[in-house]
Amino acid sequence: MAMPVRQPPTTRTSSGRRARSRPIPPPDLEFKTVELAQRARMIVDVAEADLDAAEEHLGPFHETTWSFRGALAEARNSWDRLRARYGLLALDAALEEPPATVLTLGHTPDGTPLAILIVVDGKTYRVQRLPDAPEAPRIWRLTRLPPHEDGPYHACRLADGSTQCDCAEWTYQIADLSAELCKHLAALDALGWL
Ligand SMILES: [Zn+2]
Repeated sequence: MAMPVRQPPTTRTSSGRRARSRPIPPPDLEFKTVELAQRARMIVDVAEADLDAAEEHLGPFHETTWSFRGALAEARNSWDRLRARYGLLALDAALEEPPATVLTLGHTPDGTPLAILIVVDGKTYRVQRLPDAPEAPRIWRLTRLPPHEDGPYHACRLADGSTQCDCAEWTYQIADLSAELCKHLAALDALGWL
């Protein structure tokens, strides 16, 4: 199959310190807040991606473009209402939490979602399970939404039970610390998908 499964680099390329530290969420940060914030973030990002695509393919004045523009304004209003209610600090902390909700878009006739979205470290990602490979029984592709120059990333559970990702965080800071997870692996692990 096409998905490359790289071997971990043999030399350490950084100091090997703990790769990332999560901000400590406010003690009153409830699961519901996390869920609402992550969902609202994803809806804004989907609306932005829809509008960008419509502007590019249909032009700025097409009826569909206008409707996506309205949807984006509505999504941003919802985000602003959440910010007014919970405060920006709480929302930022909520977005840093492991995925608390999954957003699916559309579905095929047999009910399979066309896209599955999660928030990883404050950013919206589309996650796609790729066909298994003998050396990697579980492989996920994570693609930023709206489209971004970084990625897509491939996060895997390998046959020997270890994990790896092709992001810079994993490659340069984690590669030889097998117990550590980059933000992509940590998100998938939190969902029980790894
Ligand atoms: Zn990663």
